[in-house]
This record gives sequence, structure tokens and C-alpha cells, in this order.
Amino acid sequence: MRLPDYHTHTSLCGHASGRPADYVQTARQLDLLGIGIADHLPLLPDHDPELSMHMSDLVPYIAEVEALKAEFPGYVLLGIEADYRPHTVSEVQALLDGHPFDYAIGSVHHLGTWGFDDPRQMEEYDERDIDEVWIEYFQLVGDAADSGLFTILGHLDLVKKFGYRPTRILEYELGLLVERIARAGVLVEINTAGLHKPVGEAYPTLDILRRLCEAGVMITFGSDAHRPEEVGRDFAHAAELARSAGYEVFASLEPDSDGGRARMRLSSLAEAFQAPRSRRRARKNPEAPGA
Ligand SMILES: [Zn+2]
Ligand SMILES: [Zn+2]
Repeated sequence: MRLPDYHTHTSLCGHASGRPADYVQTARQLDLLGIGIADHLPLLPDHDPELSMHMSDLVPYIAEVEALKAEFPGYVLLGIEADYRPHTVSEVQALLDGHPFDYAIGSVHHLGTWGFDDPRQMEEYDERDIDEVWIEYFQLVGDAADSGLFTILGHLDLVKKFGYRPTRILEYELGLLVERIARAGVLVEINTAGLHKPVGEAYPTLDILRRLCEAGVMITFGSDAHRPEEVGRDFAHAAELARSAGYEVFASLEPDSDGGRARMRLSSLAEAFQAPRSRRRARKNPEAPGA
């Protein structure tokens, strides 16, 4: 399937397995449109070996992915998943500016010191007003969009991961978030990892996707693979979700030859699912009838 996967991890973050090359190999086997490695930027201010790479891993990580970029030009991209936390914005910005990332995924995994998507910290949900949790989360994701630091917003409604839903539709807060994302011009990923979490659905939900589509926000795709075999997982479902929400096109990223952030390119969702066999034949033998 000719969709890209821009959200993949590696063994460096302490909770995933496989080297970048393994992820690239799966992407090529699946005939994906492209692949980005986007492991966790060192978590600031305090490193957690189970959540992100160590600062000393960053340069070797970049070198390893850059070698793959050289081997598969235009196909492999150097990404990073960075935490958006209000008190670490300037340090994150310095790290993003100081390294040649093609793109950065901006993710909110914390409300204050609470890692709300961390299974080790789940009990905290029982102490909180769930609507307030969602409202604070939406506010932070909107701040992440406004920050201008990120190319893609990661798993947009991650706060649903363990199945804790707001008690009412947060119409105003959600409307405001969508408006902020649209104004910022940042991409939103359809992240299929949620299908394998307690919530059992992709991020974001169809209702949010419809609102994003209506507001003109462009989408792309990420599996959030933590093992090489998870690359491109459930992408047929993700594409179906996108089309149900009204999307006809999706964004892919092309590395910038001048060393800046990747450029966005739009492609048709329908064409991404043309029969792969006939296309493969066509590539091998351009003279074949019907190619
Ligand atoms: Zn994440
Ligand atoms: Zn991730």
C-alpha cells in the first residue's frame, strides 16, 4: 500500500525493539510509500530509560538513520518524537533546531508531572475529574500546535488510551483545538496503535477526523510501531477512516535538499490502494500490456 509510516520507534527508547534498518526493511516489504524513524527525543528535564533515548544516544541515532537515508534516498526520513511540555519548550526547541531532523512529531504524554499514558501511572485517573483531564490535554495539544515546533501532531486524542472518556462532548474545547491546529498548519497523523490499546480505536476518533477535515487540516499516517513487524499495521483501516471522515488526499514528506525540514506533498488516498500486484508488474516491465 502506498501510504507512508512516519511514526516508528527503535530499541533506543527502552520500550521498543529493533534497529532502524529493521523498520525500513518491513516498510519496503509492504511497499509503503516511505518510512520515517521517529524515536523518542530524550525526555526533559529528567531522563527515564523506559520512555526515551538517552542524550548520549541522540548523535548515534541520527548517524544510523542518516546512513539509511543515504542508502534509500527519498524513501527514509529522519524524524523524532518530542514531548510537548510547557516548561521544557526552549530546551526541546534547541534540540530540534540543533539537529538535521526531516520532521518532528509533537506529542503530549504528560499533564504536569503525570504521565497519563504510562501504564505505571494509571491509578491517577481515579483521583481526577475526567472532563478536566481532557480539557487540560486539549489545551496542551493546542499549545503544541501553536508552538511551531512540530511537523506532525502525534496521537491527537491519546488521553483516551485506557478507555477513560469525557462525560460529555467537549464541543467548545474540541472546536477551539481544531481551529488552532488549522491555523498552525501542522499535520495530524492517523495513528493506528490505539487499536491495540484498551480503547481499541485509532487516534484520533472519526468524529475528530471529520472536524479536522472540515477545517482543512491535512493528515498523514503513523503506526507508532514499537517492533519492526508493526510497521504499517492497520493502514487499510486508517485509510478507510480517513475516507469516512471526508479526506480524499493525504500528506507525505519529501526531504529538503537544502537540509531544512521536509516538504509536504499531497497524494490521492484512492490511488494508494490500487492493486499492488499490477503496479509491481508495471514497474518491472513497462512494456507489459495495460501497464
Ligand atoms: Zn507518543
Ligand atoms: Zn510514539
